[in-house]
Amino acid sequence: MAVRKPKIQKTNGICSLCGGVFGKTAMKKHIVQCLQKHPSRKPSGFPVPVQTRLFTILVKGSFLHEYWMYIEVPANSLLRGLDNFLRNIWVECCGHLSSFTINNKKYISEMDEYFKEDKSMNYLLEKVLKYGKEFYYEYDFGSPTYLELKVVNEREIEDSDRSIEIIARNEPPVVNCDSCGKIATYICRQCSNSGDGWVCDDCAPEHKCGEDLLLPVVNSPRVGVCGYTGLD
Ligand SMILES: [Zn+2]
Ligand SMILES: [Zn+2]
Ligand SMILES: [Zn+2]
Ligand SMILES: [Zn+2]
Repeated sequence: MAVRKPKIQKTNGICSLCGGVFGKTAMKKHIVQCLQKHPSRKPSGFPVPVQTRLFTILVKGSFLHEYWMYIEVPANSLLRGLDNFLRNIWVECCGHLSSFTINNKKYISEMDEYFKEDKSMNYLLEKVLKYGKEFYYEYDFGSPTYLELKVVNEREIEDSDRSIEIIARNEPPVVNCDSCGKIATYICRQCSNSGDGWVCDDCAPEHKCGEDLLLPVVNSPRVGVCGYTGLD
């Protein structure tokens, strides 16, 4: 398992409800209060209000804590839905397998003979998670990206039609070029295993591994891994 050294420890993020800027820890306190001030972003026009239970979940890179998000997820959605969301926003490169680990049980994106012992992702969040629960996510068992997740808040709103929403997310970390110190725009997929390989536009053509191995710098804990470009 390659453990990458983080280049940067701390990043600020922006609260999507009020625009406030906070670090990861302060943000937790902030959004619990801010969510109360912004109880629902949709006027509820339903004749009979339907209660939806929402979990606020902190997701962060396991070894790369500068990448983090607070998301609000309906408790009655499937693990598969959360998997899709994480893939779209943060990790998907070439359709690798993924898994959640909750209470030492593994929930895997695709079942087959080899993973007989594991469970599928067709479980409701409310059946396997509760307030305070920490759990783990892994994308791509070959060149894995590990995420840590924690249910940090829970509330009910009158809205039956919610999808997963980002409440706050880290601002893109600025990393300097290993050679010249300018802002890095690429990262070498080979050198990134050891936490190096950040290069700027000017130094890119001279990178020792060749330009073909360079990937764009993107705001994700999968930056520089496999073929991850942050694009569809
Ligand atoms: Zn706010
Ligand atoms: Zn890949
Ligand atoms: Zn440079
Ligand atoms: Zn390299």
